[in-house]
Amino acid sequence: MIIVDVTEKEQREKLRREFTSNVSHELKTPLTTIYGVSDMMAEGIVKQADVKTFGRNIKEESGRMISLIDDIIKLSKLDENSFPEESCSVDLFDMAKDVIDRLNIKAGERGVKLFLEGGHASVNGIPSLCDEIVYNLCDNAIKYNKEGGSVIIRVEDLNEGVTLTVEDTGIGIPFEYRDRIFERFFRVDESHSQTVDGTGLGLSIVKHAVSYMGGTIEVESAEGVGTKMIVRFSRDRS
Ligand code: ADP
Repeated sequence: MIIVDVTEKEQREKLRREFTSNVSHELKTPLTTIYGVSDMMAEGIVKQADVKTFGRNIKEESGRMISLIDDIIKLSKLDENSFPEESCSVDLFDMAKDVIDRLNIKAGERGVKLFLEGGHASVNGIPSLCDEIVYNLCDNAIKYNKEGGSVIIRVEDLNEGVTLTVEDTGIGIPFEYRDRIFERFFRVDESHSQTVDGTGLGLSIVKHAVSYMGGTIEVESAEGVGTKMIVRFSRDRS
């Protein structure tokens, strides 16, 4: 007699079905807008004065689709465990400096200040994945912050390894969602998707990328006070 445990297989099947249905839904929404707007333009019923606004609409919605497809491609590469890049020594402090330079304008527009603390610390990692981790965590710390808030990014070379901490003074995450934020397409407040840009895939990419490089991620958060994301890697000994 052969006993086969199908629970895990069924669970994977279920997740795959849910993912396909979510992707279809998320892609259909912007595409429907693009179709509607371009249809009106093609029919010639858009006033000349409105052409710019309609064009901007198409640009924004197609930009959303591109981000979504980019994120899905990253996730599928991680799923296949076949990242096409070699590991090397990556200094997370330098990487954080670069991310801050790229995000400073966005933070300024939201009245959020970015601070970098700690010092140089290298890990043995894949540069584009390290960038993905640092960028996504800092981007979220800005997006879910409050006007006049701040973000502290800290890189530390400790005995047990290298730690990256991204701490914000934002809206926080309700306790019951602390684990769910790492699920694909999960967003605490769905109405955010109207006002805060994002695909709901960022943290699932971060979690996947961290474990791909043998690290761990932990979240501490208090609603209305802020969130702290702690990523731990073993130190680069090469
Ligand atoms: P999104 O594209 O929506 O930002 P993520 O996967 O990066 O997707 O995050 C999932 C959800 O987790 C977000 O929609 C938000 O509700 C919550 N979240 C993530 N980071 C933070 C943070 N620093 N503060 C508060 N909420 C956060």
